[in-house]
Amino acid sequence: MRSQTCHRCRKTIAAGDLLYRLTIKVFADFDGIIKIKSQPIDLKEEFDKIKAYPEDLLEEEVFKEFDFILCPRCKEIYCANPLHLPLEGLPPAEPS
Ligand SMILES: [Zn+2]
Repeated sequence: MRSQTCHRCRKTIAAGDLLYRLTIKVFADFDGIIKIKSQPIDLKEEFDKIKAYPEDLLEEEVFKEFDFILCPRCKEIYCANPLHLPLEGLPPAEPS
């Protein structure tokens, strides 16, 4: 296997060294509740609006997947705070 590059810090990961694959899937969910508008819906108009949207944008509204390669240090940083929430009282992570 050839060397890889960490997508977060750009460090080269030599062939045979430990690396991690990070796959993030974001997809639409449904809670079973349908909100009905008080005004009548023109189905043809709504369908025309959808048809006017580029197909790839429509697909991204429903499903998006990201695939990254991380070095061990960046894997630790990512796993410590995957949503990148503010960590009150903690200093920011040092760059690798
Ligand atoms: Zn890295």
